[in-house]
Amino acid sequence: MSGKRTRVEEPSSGLGGRQRLSCPTCGQEFVTADSAALPFCSDRCRSIDLKRWLGEEYGIPVESTGEDDSV
Ligand SMILES: [Zn+2]
Repeated sequence: MSGKRTRVEEPSSGLGGRQRLSCPTCGQEFVTADSAALPFCSDRCRSIDLKRWLGEEYGIPVESTGEDDSV
């Protein structure tokens, strides 16, 4: 049984049948196989979208990318 989850990084050259997607948050095009947070390009964009969504729901103004939490 191979229950190990090893992340194998393949060289992007050679394969031509990779599916690409446009991130709904940043609009950047990315390879679906490279993302662990589909349909977003990254977990970061996913949380940004989620915050935006929640922000609209609760009427909280969304600050631009709060990278450093200085609170
Ligand atoms: Zn993105």
